[in-house]
Amino acid sequence: MVTKLIIGANNKTQMKLLFCNTCGDIVKLGKTTRTCQCGSCGGHYREDGVNAIYYGPAIPIGFHNSSFTEAISNQPEYGSGLDYKAFVIPKVCPTMVHIDFSDYVAVHDYTDGFVVEEMYDDMMEEAELQKKKIKLKNVFKDEE
Ligand SMILES: [Zn+2]
Repeated sequence: MVTKLIIGANNKTQMKLLFCNTCGDIVKLGKTTRTCQCGSCGGHYREDGVNAIYYGPAIPIGFHNSSFTEAISNQPEYGSGLDYKAFVIPKVCPTMVHIDFSDYVAVHDYTDGFVVEEMYDDMMEEAELQKKKIKLKNVFKDEE
């Protein structure tokens, strides 16, 4: 159960990552665009969660999910650690396509933005309501 959470929705046979040749960062790809620390490479999974595209001076690498999750769930208490299977994805790979940065269309998750906007709208509505209430009170005051 725990290991499934780490892999997330993309629980396929392998996990794709990018190793940046410029800054040495390693980034796990997701449904939205992720970039390395220096920003020179990045990428994302397509809707199917299998095919991915990336740009920049990166070497794509893969983890065998079954091997990785097995190693995680069997983390040793002491000793030399547990090996798992990882590999370097070939330069030409149908499920991992390298494109020019100029051709890359970033995928963003705007969900957070919408939530903030909604909260803002609610706050403004509440403020309007308060103003009206005060006005109403003032009207009654005048009549007294
Ligand atoms: Zn980098």
